[in-house]
Amino acid sequence: MNAFEEAQEQLRRSLAVFPVSDELHARLARAEREVTVSIPITMDDGSVRMFEGYRVQYSSLRGPYKGGVRFHPQADINEVRALAFWMTMKCALAGIPMGGGKGGITVEPRSLSAQELERLARGWVRAFYALLGPDQDIPAPDVNTTPEIMCWMSEEYEKLTGDTRNAAFTGKALTCGGSEGRGAATSAGGFYVFEALRTHVGLPEHITIAVQGMGNVGGGTAHIFHEHGHTVVAMSDSKGGLYSASGLNPKAVENYKKEHKSLEGFPDAEYISNEELLELPCDVLVPAALENQITRNNAGKIQAKVVLELANGPTSTEADDILFGKGVTVIPDILANSGGVVVSTYEWEQNLKGEHWSEKDVLDKLRVLLNRESENVWEMSVKLETDLRRAAFAVALERLEKAAKLAAQAL
Ligand code: GLU
Repeated sequence: MNAFEEAQEQLRRSLAVFPVSDELHARLARAEREVTVSIPITMDDGSVRMFEGYRVQYSSLRGPYKGGVRFHPQADINEVRALAFWMTMKCALAGIPMGGGKGGITVEPRSLSAQELERLARGWVRAFYALLGPDQDIPAPDVNTTPEIMCWMSEEYEKLTGDTRNAAFTGKALTCGGSEGRGAATSAGGFYVFEALRTHVGLPEHITIAVQGMGNVGGGTAHIFHEHGHTVVAMSDSKGGLYSASGLNPKAVENYKKEHKSLEGFPDAEYISNEELLELPCDVLVPAALENQITRNNAGKIQAKVVLELANGPTSTEADDILFGKGVTVIPDILANSGGVVVSTYEWEQNLKGEHWSEKDVLDKLRVLLNRESENVWEMSVKLETDLRRAAFAVALERLEKAAKLAAQAL
């Protein structure tokens, strides 16, 4: 199954325990709008290269489309469609006034110079700006897209439209209208969800954790768990990982990677593959990279007690069943990684109101929201006697159903 088929299978499984109207199911089975474009970019050597770009506007039932833009060689319309569907469910579950969308460009960003990358980011905005805007569609960072890239995009949008409010893009750097706390929001959110559910899922006060991925989310997750006294036994980048049963210092690992461009050779730790990382003994396993990491091929070998999904779609539905059978709890992506889009929404609100909130205010507000929604998901799982993924979908579906009823009245 491809990513979108997996996502739709998750939906079908949830509908079996939490039925909704046929109308809502029909709306959630397809995107409202999908656009693929060719973006011409002048390379540093003067040649022109074409890049494929995407925006999928999946659902506007609960508000403007919302979701990141991914720069990755494997990005394609099908992956972006799945991610846009998950954003729809994630925003509904968080209870924020946003629909779901996602964008992308098929590119290996490391093969571009900084100038080429900037031209590409601006090119994406030129292709899509008529479909974007603070009350239409609000993109944000995702895999390989940084706060700086969001500033280029936001500035390009302002140039093309004359809209100076800075509210059409979120996840921007502080220098161009970003929010305090947005950089840390996804990993901090994952930590708050973990804390809210820790005793429910039977974890001790002090845990061991293995983190796959060292981007904004994976790196931030290693830091926040380490700072709170937990033991980070493994970390990895896209090439490989490190394992130390006695614990890694995330800062030291990051410094080493900066200096050596690789984790290989880091002292007092074993150099392992990303596949090995997933199968290590630990309390909590955090996939924080790409989709489809835990599949029927390796699910049986997972030793963690809990999988905290900070990537989108890291676990296949077949793997879900195997993990459930083994008694491994999966805390689903649409809950665990929703801190990013929640603080994006706070950023959008600050931009529209011309306000600037403190980091403490932003993160306190996020924690309150995630405590509440984590409890909601837990209670739903108890009520429906089902796993946390189906329960999280059910909470989201309940809210989407209300919006669908209102929308139907207007037809
Ligand atoms: N890319 C992030 C996600 O998958 C954040 C989206 C946003 O902030 O709009 O949730």
